[in-house]
Amino acid sequence: MTKYYPWQQTQWHNLAERLVQDSLPHALLLHGPAGIGKSDFADHFAHALLCQQRQDDGQACGHCSSCLLFAADNHPDIHLLEPEKEGGVVKIDQIRALIASLALSSHAGGYKIAIIRPAEAMNIASANALLKTLEEPPSQTLIMLVAEQLSRLPATVRSRCQRLHFQLPDTASAQSWLAQCLTETEGNVGEAQSLLTIANGAPLTALADADRDLPALRQKMLNALVELSEGRIDPVKLAAEWLKLEQPLPIKYMHRWVSDMIRLQQVPGSVEGKAEHQKVLHSLSENIELQKLYNYLDRIAESQALMTQLNPLPIMESLLIQWANILKQKTNAQG
Ligand SMILES: [Zn+2]
Repeated sequence: MTKYYPWQQTQWHNLAERLVQDSLPHALLLHGPAGIGKSDFADHFAHALLCQQRQDDGQACGHCSSCLLFAADNHPDIHLLEPEKEGGVVKIDQIRALIASLALSSHAGGYKIAIIRPAEAMNIASANALLKTLEEPPSQTLIMLVAEQLSRLPATVRSRCQRLHFQLPDTASAQSWLAQCLTETEGNVGEAQSLLTIANGAPLTALADADRDLPALRQKMLNALVELSEGRIDPVKLAAEWLKLEQPLPIKYMHRWVSDMIRLQQVPGSVEGKAEHQKVLHSLSENIELQKLYNYLDRIAESQALMTQLNPLPIMESLLIQWANILKQKTNAQG
């Protein structure tokens, strides 16, 4: 990442201005929903803070010795604290080692920076060990805590940090950013819209989903939908098969395809992407009432939320049975 994300401009200007005025806080708490790039922002600001030839807008130059160290992931004045494994805790030993490092003078003569993410991963002992440093940090030190859920941080930690809040970007800017990222692969605005809906508006989550978009898997699923429409496969059996695939890809694809079907009915040819996919989607949804597709799309969205909390099998089964029924009614109407 060479720049902060377009929706982080306010936060960037805020910090860049304070940097110029020499009024940066010692401890910052970057908080907001997942998937919007808070950690990238922290990295980016750390990078800028360590740069020896910062540009007028506060961005790093990209070619000084500090920037080169940063690019090689090897800057000795940056300390990144994360759980050793995903979902684990940031241990008190990690905090103690950090405190010891921050007490030394910086290697490059500038700032020493610590990034702790997710800050909620600190257990009570770790958080307590950090308190004194948060309150009286060594000079030229910046500690950035990155958090999603403030309520999971001890009040003592929260009160010692200045908060920087990050929100979900508005739909239009998230969509145009995502569509731009996807253009390099095989994406389009419609796909961006659909991915964002599934990711609850978080653009980085949507992008990560798009990156896992495996063409073979998609083709296999699409074939199965055709078999389902021809009555050649049992929806219950198909549900079990789909749950063996990487989750939650199947339901995300369903959501995308039904969105595409709706678009194709409204404006034929409006869905970009492979022509053969379009043809399949078009023939699957031909003669299905638009309202039925809309209702089914809602149903997919609900099911997706439920599948994270309940046994997914019956939910997927009932979703596919409903789809098979919609198709059956269509066949009857035609006959
Ligand atoms: Zn630089």
